[in-house]
Amino acid sequence: MTAVFTDWLGSEPAAYAQKIIKACGLNEPPFCERQIADFLKIDIYEISPADIEGYRLFNPDFPSVESFINESCTFMGTGEEGGRVIYTPEIVSAARKRMNILHECGHAVLPWHDQYCYLCKDKDMDPGIRKQIEREAFLCASEFIMPRVYFVQDVLSLQSMSFAAIKILSKRYHASLEATANWFTYTHPGICSVLMIEPTNIDEPDCEEIEVIPAHQENLKVGAPAMFFKKLEPEGDPLKVKYAMRSRRFPEYIRSNTGIAKGSPIHQAWLHGKASRGEIPASTFGFLGKAPLQFECLSLGYRSRMLVLLWEEDRQNRLIYAGKELIA
Ligand SMILES: [Zn+2]
Repeated sequence: MTAVFTDWLGSEPAAYAQKIIKACGLNEPPFCERQIADFLKIDIYEISPADIEGYRLFNPDFPSVESFINESCTFMGTGEEGGRVIYTPEIVSAARKRMNILHECGHAVLPWHDQYCYLCKDKDMDPGIRKQIEREAFLCASEFIMPRVYFVQDVLSLQSMSFAAIKILSKRYHASLEATANWFTYTHPGICSVLMIEPTNIDEPDCEEIEVIPAHQENLKVGAPAMFFKKLEPEGDPLKVKYAMRSRRFPEYIRSNTGIAKGSPIHQAWLHGKASRGEIPASTFGFLGKAPLQFECLSLGYRSRMLVLLWEEDRQNRLIYAGKELIA
């Protein structure tokens, strides 16, 4: 076996996206996802409702395939002529499809992803490794969609820590609001974080007892609850953090499943379903001895989820980014 390291650019996924953008000669975002896939010699096949219907007729395992497709899952496979093909559902928003396609392109350009199965929801993979490689593909896709060299300049010129600014950027880069909010905080030179909040009971355990009776045993029944999610969740809190993204300077790491207490400003905003801004005690997230944070909430309108932008006033009066002084 020979290891070839000529394409090795380090462990930062964005570096690989930047290399491809340069090689494609792209210089004015938004970049076309199909042009990038084309450059990588990857075909795109959009799975239509007719495909799904046709598959239903021939495949007895259809329910599991159908739910897989309905989760808007995109995957990379091999086409009839042996080349790589990204299969992606036809009926999703343009921004979602774009992210799906470039996420798969991310797997294709990150050299250490070669060894993994491209089925992103592959259940056999170690969950820690899967999480890591999915995150890397997301970071690579975000760099394709919102290249930092342009994006950060736009963030700074907007001079606004708000969902209004994030909405402008999401239109400019043809990205979903969620993906833009994540990238906004991940690349922001200031002190900010974005949280995805959802109701605690969303993963309510399925309390049905399952019976396991192997064929060769007659009378041994094992009753076991099907899922144990509830134990991992915060007790009594109506909301929880699904995930958090933060800028390098945001001082705390907010863990998934952190509970949001009843009556807190975030819970109030969630109950009323309205966009709101204000100040929130840092103890809401368990930070002790910290000054209050600023926040803004935005309901997403699906699965009762809400995005929360958190930030601290930036007292640094000189800002140097990528070697250049941006604010003197
Ligand atoms: Zn993936």
